[in-house]
Amino acid sequence: MLSRLARCVSNAGVCRAARQVVKGHGKHRLPAVPPPAAIASPRGHQTLATAAAASLPTVGAPPGVRHARTLDRERLLQLEWEDGTCSLYPFTWLRDNCQCPHCTLQSAQARSLLLADLDVHTGVDRVQLTENNKVTITWPDQHSSEFDPEWLKKRCFSPEARQARQEELFLNEREYWDSSLRIPTASFEEVLHDDKAALAWLLALRRIGIVYLKGAPVEQGQVARLSERIGYLRLTFYGHTWQVEDKPMANNVAYTSGKLSLHTDYPALHYPPGVQFLHCLAQAREGGESEVVDGFHMAEVLRRNDPEAFRTLSSLRIDFTDTGTDYCDFCVQSKNHIINMDNEGRVVRINYNNATRDSVLDMPLDKVQPFYSSLKAYVELMTQPENVVTYKMEPGDLVTFDNWRLLHGRKSYMSDATCRRHLEGAYLDWDEVMSRLRILRRAVHGEN
Ligand SMILES: [Zn+2]
Repeated sequence: MLSRLARCVSNAGVCRAARQVVKGHGKHRLPAVPPPAAIASPRGHQTLATAAAASLPTVGAPPGVRHARTLDRERLLQLEWEDGTCSLYPFTWLRDNCQCPHCTLQSAQARSLLLADLDVHTGVDRVQLTENNKVTITWPDQHSSEFDPEWLKKRCFSPEARQARQEELFLNEREYWDSSLRIPTASFEEVLHDDKAALAWLLALRRIGIVYLKGAPVEQGQVARLSERIGYLRLTFYGHTWQVEDKPMANNVAYTSGKLSLHTDYPALHYPPGVQFLHCLAQAREGGESEVVDGFHMAEVLRRNDPEAFRTLSSLRIDFTDTGTDYCDFCVQSKNHIINMDNEGRVVRINYNNATRDSVLDMPLDKVQPFYSSLKAYVELMTQPENVVTYKMEPGDLVTFDNWRLLHGRKSYMSDATCRRHLEGAYLDWDEVMSRLRILRRAVHGEN
């Protein structure tokens, strides 16, 4: 019994990945020069087709079930697939996920089975393969569950299958870049009206972290229109959308003509906006160029070159503050790691804006100097010319970028009464963007 289980576990290791995962971590690899496409590729830009290509899923017919049996002592269902691989499913999990109308509210695709009614030590009475290759389980109380093989295959517990499934759901693979990046570029109107173009836009936004859209009407309201393409925008104290202009008595350093050093927006919130849109309505004649850097890439370089600085910035929580009046009056305080990692040690968010970093520094005296030295090391790294991409927006350009990953800034500009620089901005969150991405993927590729 045990050797059979062991064999099955190792077999399960060859479960075919649901989609191809392209590793991008730590590499400066960029897609090859694209073939001519419908979208014009201005100098220094790449089309979306290539930027998104690596993220396209591989679709293939799943194998059928050759054989189903129970391993009663381990309380596992073992399925042998027609391709020779096999998968294991715990009895408890199967009972918990019974798809029958009693256990699942079909209209919401949600579990209606209560945990109070789940026997977490359940056995199985019998397992059968139906004529149309469904797996039916009869439970000791004679309740019966029927499972679709494709549904089961997607939920295989092998580490490889789980990893492939998580990548399909969350698209966590990133392609790191430096100053040689050609920013993926698409047509604003196409993204609004064509599902394929919209999907390519969001895939590239996730993977590369920045996508340039050209040809937006030169009037306010376009960032809101683009937000509606996804779902809805993120309201903050700066309003539904906000106007980046040189304003008297500015309530934010962005609303001046001064230089903005590389920063993420809104680390004064504990949940900063995930995605930012900026639409150029008027550009300064002199200055006002935009700068972006790949904060994840820079964090990985720091981790490699100066592990102590990385440890400091990813372990100390820093106070941020933002006070004023805009949409309404506000007095915001947060504590954030400058480099946020998830439980697996992956960098998942950068929180850094030197303007809103609080003078309150909540750490023991002996940590203060190491903190400053570490922050200096990270900022010096990200300001190296070989890491920074510089571009100047023109009226009708709309840049979309990952505010959890990129740091952005701008050069100072000459404020000029005849040609007032004016950008309109809006925020969204990644949950809503990823939701739209999954729906578009289903619409374009016909996936489940
Ligand atoms: Zn049921």
